Amino acid sequence: MKIKEINAKSILRKHKKIDSWFVSKYGMNLYRGCTHNCVYCDGRAEKYNVDGNFGYEVIVKTNAIDILKKELDPKGKRKPLSKGYIMIGGGVGDSYQPVEEKYQLTKKTLGLIYQYGYPASILTKSTLVGRDIDIIKKINRKSKAIVSFSFSSIDNKISEIFEPGVPSPNKRLDSIKFFKENGIATGIFLMPVIPFITDKPEILNETLASAKQAGVDFIIFSGMTLKNGRQKDYFMKVLRKKYPELIINYDLIYKGNAWGSATQEYNDSIHKTFSKIARKYRIPVRIPPYLFKDIITGNDLVIVILEQLDYLYKLRDMKSSFSYAAYSISKLNTPISNMKNNLKSLKGVGPNTEKIILEILKTGSSKYYEKLLIDGL
Ligand code: SF4
Repeated sequence: MKIKEINAKSILRKHKKIDSWFVSKYGMNLYRGCTHNCVYCDGRAEKYNVDGNFGYEVIVKTNAIDILKKELDPKGKRKPLSKGYIMIGGGVGDSYQPVEEKYQLTKKTLGLIYQYGYPASILTKSTLVGRDIDIIKKINRKSKAIVSFSFSSIDNKISEIFEPGVPSPNKRLDSIKFFKENGIATGIFLMPVIPFITDKPEILNETLASAKQAGVDFIIFSGMTLKNGRQKDYFMKVLRKKYPELIINYDLIYKGNAWGSATQEYNDSIHKTFSKIARKYRIPVRIPPYLFKDIITGNDLVIVILEQLDYLYKLRDMKSSFSYAAYSISKLNTPISNMKNNLKSLKGVGPNTEKIILEILKTGSSKYYEKLLIDGL
């Protein structure tokens, strides 16, 4: 492993609109590059500008804690940070990759998050996160914490091929159980599901059965992107070696669009299969409201629930204007509770959406949405 130390100018990355997948407005990359070296990692794609030999080199932002301290400290700020989970993980490098053992930037970040009283959401593939159980429990008691793991499936053999640098799926499941036993909410980000390999109904079924048994609070699913260039070249090289018979299938679903996504037809079909199995095990397919309704603003609460509803409708081939309404609300400069009598003036808000918004403002959630999240239509 080659390590390059740098001084970063800023650490917190702010989203314009709350992200309804992670219920978060802030994220960060403490490390750039990742020696977990997953074959499908889109951090390899040129658009993320990660220099060096991806998988073998890591850039460490050694001044991250000094900068974060200033960014998180509410003193001297005209406007405090928005409420919501501070997201640690995802992006272009796992926050618990091996280099964390030495630099401990993630552990120190959690210390700051606790000090300033923010909720934290961690996403990793590494069981090293168990090292930080004490500080995570303290955050959870003060403001809430979620620990999520990403998987491409529960199959240990497939994981050895595509995720050579991370603990096996079994070990990640054990970690989930450990956090649950310690009273921490946990989730699985089942992403990316690898086409024609981990998207098979029997593998998805086995993965969701194990997730249920481990006691996850939610499971979020996504297909795989293959962006032309470094990411696709690397993935196809491994595929050619391990699954040469699948090359033709990949050519049929990856037509080289700018996002690297598979065809709509393929994506629709795997989402349907996933959602059917998730319903069977009654696992929420988005972060459920009991994990966020007390910690985000009324406007963000409505946005997150409407966007989640939109996703649930799409899974069932149903059209809705929930996402449009959420977008209109994201542009408001005033609390939506001040508009209770005037909601239909917002673009995308019709009588049904109005009813749902009023219920959210009154109770912090919507019964219809909660039922849909687990049982479907
Ligand atoms: S753990 Fe995440 S960031 Fe690291 S290589 Fe794997 S997919 Fe990429």
